[in-house]
Amino acid sequence: MKWIICFLLAFSGSLAADTLAYAPPDFEKDGKTYRFVDFEKAYYSLDVNYSGRSVLVNSQVHFTLAKDGYVIFDSVPNLFDVYLNGKQVEIGDLYLPETYSPARYIQQKLKAGSYVMISKNYINDYVTYEDRRVRMAFWMSDLRDRNFLEQYMPSNFDYDQYQMDFHVSIQETDRPHVLMHNCAAIEETKFSMQLECPSHYNSSSLFFHLFEEGRFVEKLGSYPSIDGRSIPYRVYGETADRLFPRIDGLLKELEGDYGAWPYDSLLVYANTSSGGMEYAAATSTGARALGHELHHAYFARSAHPAGGNAGWVDEALASWRDGGYKVKTSLGPWHETEMASHSPYTRVTDMKAYTQGAQIIAHIDYLVQDVGGLKDFLKHFHAISAYLPFDTESFKLALEQYYEMDFAQLFDTYVYGKRILESEPNLQPMHLPEQKGMHDFTEEELYEIL
Ligand SMILES: [Zn+2]
Repeated sequence: MKWIICFLLAFSGSLAADTLAYAPPDFEKDGKTYRFVDFEKAYYSLDVNYSGRSVLVNSQVHFTLAKDGYVIFDSVPNLFDVYLNGKQVEIGDLYLPETYSPARYIQQKLKAGSYVMISKNYINDYVTYEDRRVRMAFWMSDLRDRNFLEQYMPSNFDYDQYQMDFHVSIQETDRPHVLMHNCAAIEETKFSMQLECPSHYNSSSLFFHLFEEGRFVEKLGSYPSIDGRSIPYRVYGETADRLFPRIDGLLKELEGDYGAWPYDSLLVYANTSSGGMEYAAATSTGARALGHELHHAYFARSAHPAGGNAGWVDEALASWRDGGYKVKTSLGPWHETEMASHSPYTRVTDMKAYTQGAQIIAHIDYLVQDVGGLKDFLKHFHAISAYLPFDTESFKLALEQYYEMDFAQLFDTYVYGKRILESEPNLQPMHLPEQKGMHDFTEEELYEIL
């Protein structure tokens, strides 16, 4: 299996995934056809101005529209000075069908084709200015709506992978800064950074944390991967001393179960929070969630869910690991969920993934115990899905093909909630979940670790 991983690593930059196949369906509303698009490339230039207390983003997004219609994307901050192929356009708001989830669209019907949209916006979330220094981060969450890159600048939905470049300029302060990130640094000084991110990144991949030089201790290590590479890792933050010694053991555990570490490096922001959050080849985490977040490096940020209805898979898998990979011999009525049957436009993960989801996975492990156990399949699934989006159906099909078994009834009952939906045909859209589980940052906590 090793050669497959090497092949994926070598060619991950050029894998042309048909990510639009994983987009939610285009839809009609008030006589207009709204269409999801393919972002190809985005340049984001950030002017971080200490005296002006502002972060201005200049974006240039290249996208392709497959059929005539109105283009949907998202940006929580209001965009201004928006131009499409050189002509000024207006941006509108709408709610995605059967959700409480707002999004943005270009208020002009477009012909199929390639476009360049430029825009400006300010970032006000998770940025502070004090003592001639700026602290800012793009914290993300899959448990809150619109909490990926769109919280900070125009971005596509999480089904899409696209090349992102960033230029960060720190202005009107003489204090040197450091940017922690998970992209390639083309240029990096104390006041200016230019980054190129891998082309398989999507809206939930980027790790971005800016602060003043000298703030944190930093520990550097290197892990000998099973495929012969040496994986450099960097742990920084208040709890770096505690988390650093655990990295080698955790990487060894994960590589033993799921194959070679799917990245060329690892970055860990070790803080005092009770939970954590995963990014591609990076995590922001306290001690409790470290193993959970590193597990997500394989399932969540390498093989990544294409939308909210697939988000249960990686949380159920990581929670199954957290619970010691226990086997569950039977499932009952309590395990019936509709975790994967929310509106196809849902972008958040159903919290039942951590509880019922983990036990459903434990039961599947029981069903395949005599033919190698579920971890065998998961290693295979990562090898075929690394750096690609997946949905619940593609996960189920891969499982069925691997074991030559039929899981239709199990998924219908416990994951798609067929019986629940039959007895409650007018089930309301999922409300935004309460924060809990492994990724339970409150807003105060996110500012505290800024
Ligand atoms: Zn998780």
